Amino acid sequence: MSQSVCILGATGSIGESTLKVLQQHPEQYSVFAVTAYSRLEKLVEICKQFRPQIAVVPSTQQDRLADLFKQHQIDHTEILTDESGLVAVAEHSQVDIVMAAIVGAAGLLPTLAAVKAGKRVLLANKEALVMSGDIMMRAAEQHQALLLPVDSEHNAIFQCLPNGYCQSERTGQPKQGVSRILLTASGGPFLNTSLEQLQTVTPAQACKHPNWSMGQKISVDSATLMNKGLELIEACHLFSILEHFVTVVIHPQSIIHSMVQYVDGSTLAQMGNPDMCTPIAHALAWPNRISTPVDALDVFAHQQLNFQQPDTVKFPALSLARYAMQTGGTAPAILNAANEIAVAAFLQEKIKFTAIPEIVEHTLNTVENMPANSLETILQADQFARNIATQRVSALGLK
Ligand code: NAD
Ligand code: MG
Repeated sequence: MSQSVCILGATGSIGESTLKVLQQHPEQYSVFAVTAYSRLEKLVEICKQFRPQIAVVPSTQQDRLADLFKQHQIDHTEILTDESGLVAVAEHSQVDIVMAAIVGAAGLLPTLAAVKAGKRVLLANKEALVMSGDIMMRAAEQHQALLLPVDSEHNAIFQCLPNGYCQSERTGQPKQGVSRILLTASGGPFLNTSLEQLQTVTPAQACKHPNWSMGQKISVDSATLMNKGLELIEACHLFSILEHFVTVVIHPQSIIHSMVQYVDGSTLAQMGNPDMCTPIAHALAWPNRISTPVDALDVFAHQQLNFQQPDTVKFPALSLARYAMQTGGTAPAILNAANEIAVAAFLQEKIKFTAIPEIVEHTLNTVENMPANSLETILQADQFARNIATQRVSALGLK
């Protein structure tokens, strides 16, 4: 029987790759709902092609979308708005699978709603898990949601772990013969840029990733290595493992997507061409496999795979994320919120690239850390952190 999919963030880079995979399997999957924050023309094209029953946009865009629908004779798609619309489609009784691909904290409530409704949730929106951590993992357990990682590294780790690893007891210790996780990172566009040159890099340079084509925010995060920091926290929660069992490895070719080491001396790696269609297809069909447009890896074309230690002096974001995870409570939510503000300011050319980790560190040191025992506490920490980070942006601002 065909499964019904809701794509949160359908107009983004992950949304686009998801639609590419779904398009190849029309008998197995149908698109029930799509959401977008901007780029309505793209949303209209998606609605024309995939005929979803519901589209969600901000209420400020509702009239424009209705006009566009009329122009394009789309009468099969109902429009819902704002966060209530996002939550409604994420938990809709007719939805089987939710692709959580909104960027940033804006995805938290709809993603959590999908988890609480017991859906198969394909998690791309790492910020939602970084913020809510145990709350999301416990909700998945309680509501029997299947939370599957789409982030390429976490998807790779999931593929290399023993069967049933994520369902067994959550102790923070590696188990079932696992000894360590090796989380790979490409190193981003500035791997070989000097600290001095980093002071003057532009948003365009930061968004030009050597191996992956992605949204702007995650591209900047990859350049600061904050993306790897967020992924470290994401891995600790998804696989219930303390941060000191996770080693970050710079692997510039992005052919190995991460590795798992075992007590017997084995190291398992998942490899493939860097294309998000692979982890998306894996999470859609798991435990089965479905085809994608991705070419098989040509091993003869990749005669060298290199590995090196990350430079945490040049890229302090990684140490800040590790510190936030060790501290626990609301620290990861504070880290994430400050980073979102700093990245947005950098993209608007208000601050230097090197000010991003500075703002995150300042915010972590300023906002009081609290036990993260409720969603309200987390959302409050997020708001405090945004205020402090915004003040810091003004203090450090270029204009
Ligand atoms: P993107 O910027 O290309 O797309 C983001 C999507 O979210 C768009 O559909 C946009 O309309 C929507 N959106 C943005 N702000 C919103 C808001 N305030 N409210 C509701 N919707 C909003 O981003 P992306 O690269 O597709 O990344 C999406 C998520 O997936 C991020 O969390 C990112 O870290 C994660 N991820 C992306 C990749 C990748 O290759 N692109 C890989 C791994 C993980
Ligand atoms: Mg990743």
